[in-house]
Amino acid sequence: MSAPMVHAEGVRKRFGRLEVLKGVDLTVERGQVCCLLGPSGSGKSTFLRCINHLEKVDGGRLSVDGQLVGYRQEGTRLHELREREVAERRRDIGMVFQRFNLFPHMTALENVVEAPVRVAGLSRATARAEGLALLDQVGLADRAAHYPAQLSGGQQQRVAIARALAMRPKLMLFDEPTSALDPELVGDVLEVMRRLADDGMTMVVVTHEIGFAREVADTAVFMDGGTVVEAGKPSTVLSDPEQERTRAFLSKVL
Ligand code: ADP
Ligand code: MG
Repeated sequence: MSAPMVHAEGVRKRFGRLEVLKGVDLTVERGQVCCLLGPSGSGKSTFLRCINHLEKVDGGRLSVDGQLVGYRQEGTRLHELREREVAERRRDIGMVFQRFNLFPHMTALENVVEAPVRVAGLSRATARAEGLALLDQVGLADRAAHYPAQLSGGQQQRVAIARALAMRPKLMLFDEPTSALDPELVGDVLEVMRRLADDGMTMVVVTHEIGFAREVADTAVFMDGGTVVEAGKPSTVLSDPEQERTRAFLSKVL
């Protein structure tokens, strides 16, 4: 059997004296969608950033696609990754943030084409063809020549998703992708994510969209205070949770 896409065992992270992750256990199998929920400050973003090599784990084991994050294993020895190796690993992981962070001076298509050309070395023609296909996939085929300022927040976020997909990632991380959007723009972004899930993408999604999590997630994980309080099928965790803390949180967001 192949390794899970994400495997965390007792993952710890501290910022100075503040322990933010206090032993997180979590597994995301290939092709599955894991939705992470929990109150502000519970460590959700930090955990995603650890998966994506943006933060260094202080304890426990964290692996992506069978490889220990931050290390190269040779036999029984572990070598800390060099910057270049980290960059290579990160290419396989797409990340979408609450704020879309598009390059403002580039059109939608140029935003999508930038990394494949500059980082992956694709020819501009190939990257453009793929970029147009990706913009079509997120429902923005007719916005390729628009600049971010000419697009709505929801459209910008869909460009950001297309941009992440352009590197052909094996794992997509979403950190509250719809939290900054006007309510009427949320649906289109969730729809793009839902289709991505249907196509078999492995996804870890931090979200407060309980409806989305119920319908799309294979696993729902409730975090609080730097640990996983409860994890399992969304039908259980989000509708009939075992833990009082999960119940209290859901009663506030629903
Ligand atoms: P969440 O995404 O669940 O809201 P975060 O992972 O963003 O939680 O933050 C968890 C805790 O870690 C918070 O108390 C936050 O202030 C703290 N924190 C996050 N990043 C840093 C950092 N770079 N330096 C210091 N503290 C941080
Ligand atoms: Mg966060």
